[in-house]
Amino acid sequence: MPETSPLKTELPAPFLFSQSSLQDYDECARRFQLRYIEQLRWPAIETAPVLENERRQVEGQQFHRMLQQYLLSLPADTLTRMANTENLGRWWENFIKSDLANLGKQQDANLYPELTLSAPIGRHRIMAKYDLIALKPGAATIFDWKTYHKRPQDAWMSARLQTKVYRALLIVAGSHLNARQPFAPQQVEMVYWYADFPGEPAKFPYTEAQHQRDWNSLNILVNEISAKQSFPMTSDEKKCAFCPYRSYCERGIQAGEGDELEAEISVMDVTLEQIQEIEF
Ligand code: SF4
Repeated sequence: MPETSPLKTELPAPFLFSQSSLQDYDECARRFQLRYIEQLRWPAIETAPVLENERRQVEGQQFHRMLQQYLLSLPADTLTRMANTENLGRWWENFIKSDLANLGKQQDANLYPELTLSAPIGRHRIMAKYDLIALKPGAATIFDWKTYHKRPQDAWMSARLQTKVYRALLIVAGSHLNARQPFAPQQVEMVYWYADFPGEPAKFPYTEAQHQRDWNSLNILVNEISAKQSFPMTSDEKKCAFCPYRSYCERGIQAGEGDELEAEISVMDVTLEQIQEIEF
């Protein structure tokens, strides 16, 4: 292993947690340490599936920018010209034909595209940058655009840290959107809209019990990371298959043959969120 001095273990305080850093920790404590404590940029080995994923990731970023501009009232005709690849053209057409394209035309709707919320958590903070929060009287819907190649199972998305962080943080940090009153959990719903599967969004409503459970578990997780003295490598080597640190950790040079979807998500979600964190 190429390390010459011991890896740092102390988390800078305050640390700005996000769904992607928590998801990294959940999957592999060492990945969290390398990425967020050591801030080690380790070049991923370029192999065909990874290059394809990286192309898709650039298109995904462009698609997010197009939707943001559309939701900020840029005319669709102008944006159509930006859909200059096959993937972008298809995603854009799917979006424009969907009900989502009319969200801004509803008189009682207030749209907040690319909104960032953050709140204290333990000695640290937690943040989320939302693709869109759409408010109607008595209801707050969180929309997240996904450009995955395959549609994930709802149970898998439900267990992602993103689903927990985004809903919980809207309650904890979103009262300024609701006349200074926290939203009630039952007013909140999270919707993942899949650009390649426009008729099959995943919808996750919320309850008071889920909110209590999620916010408690996020606090416990943050405290656990803060107190951690060592960040071991995962024993589940499947998690290494598409990890950019796999040559550093001597867990293989080539990208794995495993789950394409996991590769796509690990590249796209983390990169998108890192860009958002830098902007924040
Ligand atoms: S290669 Fe494996 S052990 Fe190393 S950081 Fe990535 S997931 Fe963890």
